[in-house]
Amino acid sequence: MTQLPSADLNHFLIPGSLDRPGNDPIFSLHGEAVRRIQKGDDVLNATIGALMEDSGQMAVMPAVDAAYRQVPQVRGSAYAPIAGDPGFLKSVTEDLYGGTALPECSVAVATPGGTGAIYASIVNFLERGQALLTTSYYWSPYAIMAEHHGRRVETFEMFDGDGGFHLAAFEEGLRRMVADQGRALVVLNFPCHNPTGYSMHQDEWREVARIVNAVGEGAPVAVLIDHAYAKFGAPGSERWVEHAESMTEKAVVLVAWSASKAFALYGARVGALVASCRDEGERKRIGQALSYSCRGTWSNCNHLGMLAVGHILQDPQMRRSSEEERARMRGLLDERVAAFNELAVGAGLAYPRYEGGFFVSVFTPDPKLTALHMKEESGVFVVPLQGAVRVALCALPVSRVQRVVDALAAGVRAAEQAR
Ligand code: PLP
Repeated sequence: MTQLPSADLNHFLIPGSLDRPGNDPIFSLHGEAVRRIQKGDDVLNATIGALMEDSGQMAVMPAVDAAYRQVPQVRGSAYAPIAGDPGFLKSVTEDLYGGTALPECSVAVATPGGTGAIYASIVNFLERGQALLTTSYYWSPYAIMAEHHGRRVETFEMFDGDGGFHLAAFEEGLRRMVADQGRALVVLNFPCHNPTGYSMHQDEWREVARIVNAVGEGAPVAVLIDHAYAKFGAPGSERWVEHAESMTEKAVVLVAWSASKAFALYGARVGALVASCRDEGERKRIGQALSYSCRGTWSNCNHLGMLAVGHILQDPQMRRSSEEERARMRGLLDERVAAFNELAVGAGLAYPRYEGGFFVSVFTPDPKLTALHMKEESGVFVVPLQGAVRVALCALPVSRVQRVVDALAAGVRAAEQAR
């Protein structure tokens, strides 16, 4: 075994890496639930963000399998261009912005999932020491990625007194950010926010765009839309695009596009960062900077996956099949969302507006206690957050929603009684 040169003085690791939590807390909880299920325990695993069939099998899309088979092996096995396959990037941009003027003023690079796109945004639109701005509830890897690269996360209160998106807090946070650091990177994970399930309505998007353009008059503002779950939003939620278009008046709009949920292709790590900027010179510089980040990190992405997904998006017949398959998957989820809304209201649970998406969060005064109570007393695994517990309805059959709601109600009651 390799020995440290001196027991008390040296570590092979640099100081900043000495006490890293090795395991993501969500994956740890998921692992515990899976072990209990394998032991034969009657456990419901509502921790992880993958859409499951009612049978418990992961939902997959046959069109994706067919597209993979159509990629010639010599193409799929070769290195992809550093910035990604041009046909894939064009079709992703069209997928997002077809029918608008945005493709004309967009550049894109391939990234390993939406995660890679978020990373590339953080390192190119913030200086070291600066903070991105996001909602008070947010996907925790934002902070891991920011801190890993010498940046930080600051938040604004997500909900106002009426349970809507807190526009005043957003404006105040954005103005403060620009005053403090002379620039801003805003991360908005809508439609279908993880962890809360919230989707902004048109009037909220409109106001967000107004605020972004007002603040963007005086300083560089980049708005990153984390699109991870957007294809599962309620009808009408796709109209965020109109507001993205309006934000490009004064800001750069970035989209972290991902095939993970949209094509049930979680492990393939197929994604893209699409950046829209009306200034041609700046747009070119952004494209170059993003390409440089690709080379400086993952070098290039999964070529086979990119070609297969690109093919689905480009071929009208395959595209139609994939849309039908996704609609079936969304139907599964929508049934669970409807059941949850009906039962949770009846049980008096407090949670944000929930119209679609993989997750919902239920407010509780003691999330850890609620999650523990649910696990121990009801065998229901959920993820404790600050102020709420997150329930992955995507992972549970509709027939189990009643049990989850009962467990939530008991878990929240236990937390209230312990106060
Ligand atoms: N953003 C959010 C909010 C997510 O929940 C996830 C995945 O869980 C991602 C981005 C990125 O996923 P991927 O890198 O697989 O596209």
